[in-house]
Amino acid sequence: MDELAGGIRRITLPLPMRPGHVHTYLLPGDDGWTLVDTGVGLPDAKENWAAELEQAGGRVATIFVTHFHPDHVGAAADLHELTGAPVYQGVLDYAQCELVWGNPAWSERLLDWFHLHGTPDDVTAELVGQSSVYRPFIRYQRDPILVEAGEHVDGWELVAAPGHADGQLCLLKDGVLMAADHLLGRITPTVGLWPASRADPLGDYLAALDRTIELAPRIALPGHGEVIEDPSARARELQEHHRLRLEETVAALGSHPRTGYELSLDLFGAKLPPAGRRFAVAETLSHAERLVHESAALRHEDGGTVTYTAA
Ligand SMILES: [Zn+2]
Repeated sequence: MDELAGGIRRITLPLPMRPGHVHTYLLPGDDGWTLVDTGVGLPDAKENWAAELEQAGGRVATIFVTHFHPDHVGAAADLHELTGAPVYQGVLDYAQCELVWGNPAWSERLLDWFHLHGTPDDVTAELVGQSSVYRPFIRYQRDPILVEAGEHVDGWELVAAPGHADGQLCLLKDGVLMAADHLLGRITPTVGLWPASRADPLGDYLAALDRTIELAPRIALPGHGEVIEDPSARARELQEHHRLRLEETVAALGSHPRTGYELSLDLFGAKLPPAGRRFAVAETLSHAERLVHESAALRHEDGGTVTYTAA
């Protein structure tokens, strides 16, 4: 556990997947701690948390989940059982959480979706198999207290940060942004198009980064990696990264229709492990769809396959 400025504590938990760790935070409040994010619900999550919380001292008054990805929501129910504290989660984020983790038919839907975007059968089976590995370790809290951007939780303002996850919420107080996976230091947050996601996640993300620059937080505490000392500068770097990736995507498009899978081979290389390919296809699609929104690409759907051409 690390002590940060303003009495905030950072608890770093190991992750069995990249990037190998996730940060959770305890924010001091009048009634006790507000715990931001929960880690994966690994079999020993509850014991580990009991030890961490004993070391922190005091009581947890509130549990806040920034977004429904396994490393953030996974141990929410464990923590609720352990502390009795209510769990807060965004309205849209909880809807997607249920759709993905509370739905046995999700794998099938993901399978269809990768097919739709031109992924070969053998690759698709691997991709979807990979994605269900974490299913048993996601114990999200059913019927949390649903909140929205603009509301406050324990004096922290909730700020919408769509892109990495459509319904992701950050917390902001006194120039401190609890950034979750909206801003990361050295890692570029993934921004992918997924089944049932919003139509233009990259457009959402670029606008959310504009909003971060406008809010000009002094410091950002991310879900992974080091504290971000200049959040606005990092937001601009991420915008620049995506501008370059959009240019690469335009360059990969021509008059011959290409699927998201084919484009991902150009943009991310042909050699990737299944989990890497899953994100590569989703990232490629978020860029292709941004280009469609900018009238720089055309989307076609025919014979159960989606393809893109240059506009
Ligand atoms: Zn994360």
